[in-house]
Amino acid sequence: MRTSVLLSRGPGPGEIVEAELDDPRPGEVVVRIEAVGVCPTDLVTRKALGDRPAVLGHEGCGIVERLGADVDTLGVGDRVVISFASCGRCGQCRAGRPAYCDHTAALNGSGRRADGSPTIRVDGTPVFGSYFGQSSFAAAALADARSCVPVGDIAPETAAPLGCGFLTGAGAVLNVLRPRPGDRLLVVGAGAVGTAAVLTALSDRVEVVVAEPVAARRARAVRHGATAAASLDEPIGTVTHALDTTGRPEAIAGALALLRPRGTLALVGLGPATAGIDVRALTLRGLRLRGCVEGDARPALLVPELIRRHAQGRLPLDDLVTTYPLDAFDQAVTDQRAGHTLKPVLLPPVRPHSGSET
Ligand SMILES: [Zn+2]
Ligand SMILES: [Zn+2]
Repeated sequence: MRTSVLLSRGPGPGEIVEAELDDPRPGEVVVRIEAVGVCPTDLVTRKALGDRPAVLGHEGCGIVERLGADVDTLGVGDRVVISFASCGRCGQCRAGRPAYCDHTAALNGSGRRADGSPTIRVDGTPVFGSYFGQSSFAAAALADARSCVPVGDIAPETAAPLGCGFLTGAGAVLNVLRPRPGDRLLVVGAGAVGTAAVLTALSDRVEVVVAEPVAARRARAVRHGATAAASLDEPIGTVTHALDTTGRPEAIAGALALLRPRGTLALVGLGPATAGIDVRALTLRGLRLRGCVEGDARPALLVPELIRRHAQGRLPLDDLVTTYPLDAFDQAVTDQRAGHTLKPVLLPPVRPHSGSET
């Protein structure tokens, strides 16, 4: 079927072009994209691909429009969030930890389906698609039904980042750190992931302190009930749990130093591959250091839980989102880097594709 996509070629501005989306195979669906978040990983991948033409985007939310064979969990007309892809069969998937699926690379980052078949063609030539099993910087995306989570009538621009960024921050709190009321959590970096973690912890009546150099981000965290410091050098006090979203070695070492005995530091940011850590303190104080991807989440369980909290007014994720038209991708990225927006969400045109099917 014909659709329009935001085609990136290297780090320059992308352009909206007509494209051919493959028909859904068994287990797949076509989703008409209503909103799609911009995640830092999109930018990392765009850079890594050089000038190879690509359709990125991995926080899609929209309406199921076509069903492949054997799809019995979704119906046409359902609003869904599309999360990362996993195989559903390997040991990690069967253990309920699809973020560590044995086939993650092939399913999310190869540019094609796991069997090597392309999903998007431009002018008859396959382009890098199927990104995180979706490539949702587009008016329509092809996704595995397993990756789609029904979300009901929540605003699509609020729901879209639940596919990755919000899922990562919230999952790090609810699945990995699991603080209880009365505990004290330090969140280093109050970008979209960090702030989702802050709001999630606050919704469980955990005391939260944020370390974040950007004043507007600190102010947002404080408005929601956290305390905030510009850096870890300020007197923050000790904490029972910590989350680093920056990946910076000095932030990791600084957060570890603030943990009380038997405390846990979770890492979600990707920075330099190595960091100097005081392993004596780690041992003598019984600390735990724990990396995690996508908040260890099973999207089918965590996304509905977060939507429930949002509906109860406990998780004001709307406050993190700024919307842009799909073709304003570069402006959205510029604003995010400048600290003007926390989570840019792109809105494809309302009448997204011709609908002509071949
Ligand atoms: Zn798997
Ligand atoms: Zn992401």
